[in-house]
This record gives sequence, structure tokens and C-alpha cells, in this order.
Amino acid sequence: MDSIRLPVYISLNNKWKFIYSHKPKDIKINLNNLTSVKPTYFRCIESCSACCERPDGFVFISEQEVEKAARYLEMESDEFLLHFTRKMDDRLILANGENDHCVFLEEQQCLIYEERPAQCRAYPFWPENLKNRHTWQRTKEECPGIGQGPLYGKEEILNILDHHK
Ligand code: SF4
Ligand code: SF4
Repeated sequence: MDSIRLPVYISLNNKWKFIYSHKPKDIKINLNNLTSVKPTYFRCIESCSACCERPDGFVFISEQEVEKAARYLEMESDEFLLHFTRKMDDRLILANGENDHCVFLEEQQCLIYEERPAQCRAYPFWPENLKNRHTWQRTKEECPGIGQGPLYGKEEILNILDHHK
């Protein structure tokens, strides 16, 4: 059976927020229990697309993000919706292109990088990655940007999680 992404809810200061998941069922993650939220050096590597190529992934996109990305591509939002998105339950996700990867991944480059959705911007600081040291270790092996670039403090990482819906 294919693995699917469904809603995840995170909690910061006892306030639950919806984000995403690639687990086969809804789960709840309390941000205060994410044991691997520690100061981390990170910079996305331009020639890398490892997180875009993750199997079984879905990228949720909001209507606001559709408008921004459509404007960036100099097209109408309706056209963008028609060609590049589909519905999953009552939410919009980006369609898949070649090799079942995101429709905007071309030759390891994101065609809407400047206006990519919040879910993409938040990687590698996803709750499922920060859940414990094993998941974080796996993420470090997957993402060559971890350990490079500026230092993200714990508060900054929690902020990314908190604003990432
Ligand atoms: S895996 Fe890390 S370095 Fe590579 S594209 Fe994703 S965020 Fe950037
Ligand atoms: S929108 Fe861009 S950054 Fe996000 S998954 Fe697609 S190619 Fe990767």
C-alpha cells in the first residue's frame, strides 16, 4: 500500500496547529516533546534536491501560495491550479511531474524556488525529522545543508515549526 501524507497537528504552548504528515494516519506531535530541537547550522545547497525527491511525499500549498507562485511564473492562478495542483481531501497539493517527483523539480532545480510553499521552506525543520535523535540522524544523512551556513537557534527552529501550517 502506498504511504500517504495526512494532517499532523503540532502543539506549542498547548495550542494545537495543523501542518502535514507522511504517516498513514493523523498524528499529534507536541513541539515541547521534539527532543532534537537544538541549535543547528543550516544552509540549503543550491545544487541539491534531495528533499524534493523524497518518495511518497506530498507538498501542500495554500491559495495564497498559489497566487504568489502563479505571479512568479507570470500566469493566472486558475491556470496554475489546473496544471500544477490537485486536491487531496479538502486541501491543495502540488501535482507530480516526471519520476513521480514534484512537478516543479527540473534538473535538480526548483522552478519556483523563490516562491516555493512553506512546507518546502521549512525543511529540514519538520516535526517528523526533529522527533528524536534517530529521525534527526536520518535527516542529517539526507540533507547536506545541515552543518553548514548560519546557526539556527532553538527558538528560531520552534518559530519555523510554529509558523509552518
Ligand atoms: S535536502 Fe537540504 S540541502 Fe538539499 S535541497 Fe533539501 S533542504 Fe536543501
Ligand atoms: S516546490 Fe520546489 S522546493 Fe518544493 S518540492 Fe517542489 S521542487 Fe522542491
